[in-house]
Amino acid sequence: MCSGRVDPVFVLRAFAKGVDGVFIGGCRLNECNYTTQGNYDTLNMVLLYKRIMEHIGLNPERLHIAFMSGAEANLFAETVNSFVERVKKIGPLGKAEAIHPETLLARLAEVTKLVPYIKRVNQEKLATRLHDPAEYDRLFTQSDVEKMFSEIVAYYIDPAKCQACMICARRCPEEAISGGKNQIHVVDQAKCIKCETCFVVCPTRFNAVMKISGAPVPPPLPEDQRTFVRQKA
Ligand code: SF4
Ligand code: SF4
Repeated sequence: MCSGRVDPVFVLRAFAKGVDGVFIGGCRLNECNYTTQGNYDTLNMVLLYKRIMEHIGLNPERLHIAFMSGAEANLFAETVNSFVERVKKIGPLGKAEAIHPETLLARLAEVTKLVPYIKRVNQEKLATRLHDPAEYDRLFTQSDVEKMFSEIVAYYIDPAKCQACMICARRCPEEAISGGKNQIHVVDQAKCIKCETCFVVCPTRFNAVMKISGAPVPPPLPEDQRTFVRQKA
């Protein structure tokens, strides 16, 4: 599989299953077999998720990426062996970091749920092409990551503006929006992955989807108050 296809969800799933370390091997940079140069994308993903691992209390050295050609079997073996040694020294996942297994699973689940949001807010930096390894540590800083998590937005449908057109509910990838053609729509915050689709697709003449950050999300409208009454023209 092309290293560019390695989604952060795969990495988080591996840690959630209890693996102690994740190694990603990609083709040499600038020697992509396709035109996509996806190995640069994966490098940036790894740089970001190392910071996120620190944020949730995990040793970032448990995640490693290296680039080599298919003809470099020796380099591959050396790189993998040295990574295995490194991970053995770090110790078992979670235990070495003194994180309770349930806490770790909950933290990994929370980050996994936020992957679409994390991709969206870091879109520009994730598309960067870094040519000098000295720049790697500067692409994402710990304070960038802390800020990102402290500014997480929630999507809320303003009941006074929703016209029950159903567009958002049809387009939500997580079925997190409920409502029918005569029902004011509501977002199930527990299911929402913060992909922003509803905010983008709600027609501008309605503008019913709001982004809320740093303030509590109002409770959903009770079921018996959700009937939408269309105004006669
Ligand atoms: S942001 Fe909107 S479209 Fe995306 S998951 Fe949440 S409710 Fe669904
Ligand atoms: S797209 Fe906007 S107006 Fe239409 S149902 Fe969703 S929130 Fe309501």
